[in-house]
Amino acid sequence: MKVCKKCGAIQDNNHINCIDCGEHLGSPLTKEDEAKVDQEVSKSITNLSNRTDYFYVRKRDKVIAILLAIGALIFIILFIRIKEDYRPILLSGVVAMAIRALDIWFPWFSWEIAKIHYSFTIANSDDLQPTELSLIIRRLISYGMLIVGYAAIIYLMIYLYTK
Ligand SMILES: [Zn+2]
Repeated sequence: MKVCKKCGAIQDNNHINCIDCGEHLGSPLTKEDEAKVDQEVSKSITNLSNRTDYFYVRKRDKVIAILLAIGALIFIILFIRIKEDYRPILLSGVVAMAIRALDIWFPWFSWEIAKIHYSFTIANSDDLQPTELSLIIRRLISYGMLIVGYAAIIYLMIYLYTK
């Protein structure tokens, strides 16, 4: 195994020049270095597949889920404290934030629900796989909900405590 010093491409020992950039390749790696390179490659492959896996919950997702759950709790407190026409809005705040929190923490659950929905229109809905785009959209909706939810909380707090 040889590694190009210029572009980092890994190639067979029979190459004299790099297949990617044409740079002259030096002597092959030692067995030890080769094992190291193999390990790093397999590590970066696992990282890559984790990052795009619909059902993999990243640390950042968990933080978002916790913040959404806290937001839902604040909405419940506001619901109890505000005794006016605001209650339907507050209730929808509780539901929306709680649903987004559950969805981001338990992606398989929302996927099962989606599959039930598809089972009415598609014959072998069990074989369906979520797309990468659906993963991005799911995260964007949750991040958006977080911003909108907390903006509403701040507004309601000001309303409640400046009266
Ligand atoms: Zn190269």
